[in-house]
Amino acid sequence: SESTEADVREEAVETADGREIEVAANIGTPAELAPAAERGADGVGLFRTEFLFLDRDDAPDEEEQYEAYTEAIETFPDGRVVVRTLDIGGDKPVPYLDLPDEENPFLGERGIRRSLGPDAGLFETQLRALLRADADTDVGSLAIMLPLVTTVEEVVAAETVMDRVIGDLKRDGIDAERPEFGVMIETPATAFMADELVRRVDFFSIGTNDLAQYVMAAERGNDAVADLGDFRQPAVLRAIDATTSAAEGTDVWVGMCGEMAGDPELTELLVGLGLTELSMSAVTVPAVKARVTEIDTDAASALAERALNAASKDEVIELIT
Ligand code: PEP
Ligand code: MG
Repeated sequence: SESTEADVREEAVETADGREIEVAANIGTPAELAPAAERGADGVGLFRTEFLFLDRDDAPDEEEQYEAYTEAIETFPDGRVVVRTLDIGGDKPVPYLDLPDEENPFLGERGIRRSLGPDAGLFETQLRALLRADADTDVGSLAIMLPLVTTVEEVVAAETVMDRVIGDLKRDGIDAERPEFGVMIETPATAFMADELVRRVDFFSIGTNDLAQYVMAAERGNDAVADLGDFRQPAVLRAIDATTSAAEGTDVWVGMCGEMAGDPELTELLVGLGLTELSMSAVTVPAVKARVTEIDTDAASALAERALNAASKDEVIELIT
């Protein structure tokens, strides 16, 4: 069998010199929760909720979403579940939502742009379901995360909706509270604005799949430009560093939930760049947990420093292998 197979570690892991690194799983549906827990995930670092909306004729109602979010929170009684609000548009079409026919869907109405626009009703329903699930569970911890943010105003507007929903629920006698609230860093704009955003959120989670595409102007999934749109490009590393640097010395934690987080060859570099949470496809959780325990954070910082000074992707690859 493969050399990447590692023993499952149920417990949280830390580096050889004692820095705890959360290793979480990315999921799309509740069916993926149990397998993630079995692989030793500490929690869910990315629940891609659009999967609840795919392959069906209409949107799941508040009750159906409430069940899914409750199950997620209860699966990780000692961990955190980061639920990303609907990220529809771009490469994620949903027939019943009547999405616009755009020439450049990746640059169009997707993610938070739709939630603050044409899908405002869906956004509110989703927030109600999430906040009710949080209020009704006395284990675990919920975090709400916004996709494809580019401006501070979007974060403020989304928070205003969330606060209004909390007020509505309270009037209905539900003990809703403000959950952890954060944004994905998956556009260059948010990496540049991280020092402003840091005052308005509890966490950042770096989405390297989109971040690499937008930093490098190289469409994800397009083989002809795959070499450019690689998260090992030094320009992508610098966008990551801009984010972790902005959060340094604050209470804001920085995680990563793009594909880059699941590669054990990159764990040392990511720890060196300042990430304290890594979320990935569940199958890679054991290997990344094993790798974390071998890392010395000073050596990791030195590696990150060298990688940030690299002039090319090849230089970065040479450093990490
Ligand atoms: C990302 O962009 O890196 C990410 C995790 O989100 P998605 O892959 O769902 O776009
Ligand atoms: Mg993304």
